[in-house]
Amino acid sequence: MNRKPIFAANWKMNKGASETEDFIKSFLSKLQGQDFPCEIVIAPPSISLPKLADLLHNANAGQNAHAIQIAAQNCSQFDSGAYTGEISVLMLREFFVHYVILGHSERRAIYGETDAIINAKIKKAREANLKPIFCIGETLAEREGGKLESVLRTQITGGLDGVSEKDLGETVIAYEPVWAIGTGVTASSQQAQDAHAFVRSVIADLYGADAAAKIRIQYGGSVKPGNAAELMACPDIDGALIGGAALEPQSFLEIIRNGSAD
Ligand code: PEP
Repeated sequence: MNRKPIFAANWKMNKGASETEDFIKSFLSKLQGQDFPCEIVIAPPSISLPKLADLLHNANAGQNAHAIQIAAQNCSQFDSGAYTGEISVLMLREFFVHYVILGHSERRAIYGETDAIINAKIKKAREANLKPIFCIGETLAEREGGKLESVLRTQITGGLDGVSEKDLGETVIAYEPVWAIGTGVTASSQQAQDAHAFVRSVIADLYGADAAAKIRIQYGGSVKPGNAAELMACPDIDGALIGGAALEPQSFLEIIRNGSAD
């Protein structure tokens, strides 16, 4: 199955509009004339989405530019109304957002997002034709307690409850072991491959072998230029969700280059 790898930068709460502009100008100049066989996605803080949309609109229209897609880091599960601080899917659409990261472990752990909330957000995102980057992953205690598979199965089943096969086809899964996020500790390529193969098998149980073979599953957790190639060489790993190492244009570019080399 030929799945196009997808490399997504999750900037978290870093880079306002002016730093976004600095990054994009530098990144585009480094990217100039290069065409990698992958999708490139950037998820800035929501306040920087208009600036990013503006900068990429011009760049993506230019010749020889590798297209860059925009992602949001979150969305509301509601359409509009009295939800102070929230942003709706239609508001995101106004800034050419194509992807939305949902279920990130920081949203689960710090903001109490449950599988049911994440499920409602995935469905709301699909209503607006946004593509979810649906994050799942176990804590170290869960892994060491032998609960890896049950945790992943519960997160997948809960997050995708009632999601159609068609909508699954527009969804990317990001397997991110919580103990590897922002810690500098990366899962070994064997640990990552085993978890990805398991995730694909759960998708096969829920949606059938064809859907499982098609879905892209990114790895996330301290991906760096030095480990991208080995991780991306694993048969069930289809790109990366990158935090810290995607804050610098050169390092994000090297991950893309190293990770998408044949
Ligand atoms: C993330 O935030 O999704 C992530 C994987 O972060 P880092 O690359 O810094 O571990």
